[in-house]
Amino acid sequence: MSATFDIAIIGGGLAGCSTALHARLKGASVILFERGRCGGQASGVNYGGVRQQGRHPAELSLSRRSRTIWGSLQQLIGTDCEFAATGHLKLARTDVDMEDLIAHQALLGEHGIHADILEARDLTRRFPYLSGRYAGGSYCGEDGQANPRLVAPAFAKAARALGVVIRENCKIAVAERAESGFVIRPADGSPAISVRRLINTAGAWGAEVAAMFGDLVKETVMAPNMCVTEPIPPLIGPNLGICGGSIYIRQAAHGSVIFGAGLGVADAQALRARPLAEVTLEAAAAAVEMVPHLRNVLLLRSWTGIEGRMPDGLPVLGASPTVEGLFHAFGFSGHGFQLGPAVGAVLAELSLDGDTRTSISGLAMDRFAPFAVPAP
Ligand SMILES: Cc1cc2nc3c(=O)[nH]c(=O)nc-3n(C[C@H](O)[C@H](O)[C@H](O)COP(=O)(O)OP(=O)(O)OC[C@H]3O[C@@H](n4cnc5c(N)ncnc54)[C@H](O)[C@@H]3O)c2cc1C
Repeated sequence: MSATFDIAIIGGGLAGCSTALHARLKGASVILFERGRCGGQASGVNYGGVRQQGRHPAELSLSRRSRTIWGSLQQLIGTDCEFAATGHLKLARTDVDMEDLIAHQALLGEHGIHADILEARDLTRRFPYLSGRYAGGSYCGEDGQANPRLVAPAFAKAARALGVVIRENCKIAVAERAESGFVIRPADGSPAISVRRLINTAGAWGAEVAAMFGDLVKETVMAPNMCVTEPIPPLIGPNLGICGGSIYIRQAAHGSVIFGAGLGVADAQALRARPLAEVTLEAAAAAVEMVPHLRNVLLLRSWTGIEGRMPDGLPVLGASPTVEGLFHAFGFSGHGFQLGPAVGAVLAELSLDGDTRTSISGLAMDRFAPFAVPAP
């Protein structure tokens, strides 16, 4: 046994890197294991949407807390990762959609999140580049976008600067309980590590790590289909979405328009994900339908990534139902980038203080199946 740490983290996506930083800020000794490079999977290849609007009620406290952290990235990790509060505009096709947006506005308000309901004529006046086919929309001014390639590595760099040990290119093959915590065994045969608490932020492989301890949940994979265009002069202000969630579009500060719709394919075991040509064509048509000016803009590239999906579309976040000292956060089901910074803060509190001030009650693992609670 070569070393002992307060906390080990398996998985260096945004959730894991943020946990490492927040746990270290609370004084813990921390080691993080990442099979590839930090941010190399979903956290580094996503669309870059940072929105509270449109989330399930169970995620809103977490999302709210994350928004606070997004706004203070510069102070926390020394860079803003191109986060910009460009706003998020969710469009309604029908009056029924509008009723949903109005109901959601009230829910957001309960969490201190402000959104403006816009009528069709407001859209025409404020966002003239949109096609005129919408009944209205909901605009949340403090939502926005960021560059996903930058965020997890920046958290990792800040954590490392404070003394977190980050071992990249180091897959954990076995993690098991020990007398006073856990033993972690890297697949490369390097010495086992002894830790007091273990945090599983292994993304699409989270259920695999959980299963090492008998925490059995069904996690599948999904691969949102992404496209990027050549840079064009500033056109689209807010990050755009639509009720029903099909097409979403944003323009990055350097001019490229990024949009997504539909799913590609992913193989979590082979670590491979591919967009699909027919889905890309449909996405491009949907993007042009929303913003007709895109008709003459060149598409440069399409891509996707490997994301974990839970049966109800909500992540698992919280203590293991069966193993003391073990905590899980995985299966973000296509919307964990915005949540990532707060996931780390919450996991640091849960694992070091035994509680968190953020409501995560709807995200516990035991919502899926009954688990035997070990005797005290
Ligand atoms: C194409 C795409 C678009 C998306 N768009 C958005 C968006 O606009 N907004 C939004 O909020 N969310 C979005 N998401 C979702 C978001 O990217 C994810 O929910 C989030 O990044 C998950 O972070 P994570 O840290 O849990 O997982 P990951 O980033 O996948 O990190 C998990 C890490 O664990 C490592 N790992 C796994 N097993 C082991 C092991 N045994 N040993 C060591 N390391 C291991 C993996 O290598 C991986 O790096 C999108 C996802 C995709 C794929």
